[in-house]
Formats: sequence, structure tokens, C-alpha cells
Amino acid sequence: MNDVSDLYQEIIIDHNARPRNFRELETPDKFIEGYNPICGDKIILYLKFNGNMIADISFQGSGCAISRASASMMTEAVKGITKQGANGIFEAFHNMITRTPGDGIDVATLGDLEFLSGVTAFPARIKCAILSWHTLRAALHGNDEIVSTE
Ligand code: ZN
Repeated sequence: MNDVSDLYQEIIIDHNARPRNFRELETPDKFIEGYNPICGDKIILYLKFNGNMIADISFQGSGCAISRASASMMTEAVKGITKQGANGIFEAFHNMITRTPGDGIDVATLGDLEFLSGVTAFPARIKCAILSWHTLRAALHGNDEIVSTE
């Protein structure tokens, strides 16, 4: 049933092998670090804003395949949209992987991120998947402290 191989679907393997937007922005408006001490995942998120829009976003860091694929998918999902739009996708993604019932789940907004729904069967990996999102949310709320999933 919940074979671990289900978690590592092709799309996740691809995002891990060729992470999108995996670079440092030269003149970011914001950069912020996030850690998941349980797994050892580390992310540095770089953001450039144009008014209320996320004009550019990139990341660096090291971590497991899930954390890296999730960060890669996240940057694709939120680049070029408003901060409010990004918060909406955060809510939908968070509800999906924590299986929180509610009207926040609009899988149509999730794109590739929907493939991470497999982590719900592996509670220890949820923090790997959510790390980049918590880091993004902290950045959008203007926080400067290092983000931790613990
Ligand atoms: Zn991890």
C-alpha cells in the first residue's frame, strides 16, 4: 500500500535532480534561511518583489529529495504572482499535506505540488515538504529570523 516508492514519483525525482530556480539572486530584496532539524534540510530563499508581486524567487541549500523537490515546485508556483496569491497556494498546500479539511484545498492552484500529496502517508516527511513554504511565508510576513520547522 503505502510503499515508500509511491512517494518518489517521477515528477519529484525530476525536481530533485534538476531543481528549478536553484541559484542565488544577485540583488534580492529579501533572503531568509530555513531549517528542518529533524531531517537536516536547509534552505536559503531569495526573493525579488515588484510592488505586491513576487517578481523573482530562487533557492539554495541542501536536503533530502522531498525538501528539494518541494522548494523547486514552490518557486515555480509562486513566481510572478502576488503575495496574496502565494499565501493562498500555501494554504491549499498546507491543507493538502496535513489533510486539514476545509475549503482551502483548491488542487487546481497547486500544479506539480499536488504530487507531494504522497507525504501525508509519511508524517515524518511532512516537515521536509513544508519547510520551503514556512520559509516563504516568514519572508512574506517580513520576518528576518531563521525559520525552523521545530
Ligand atoms: Zn527532509
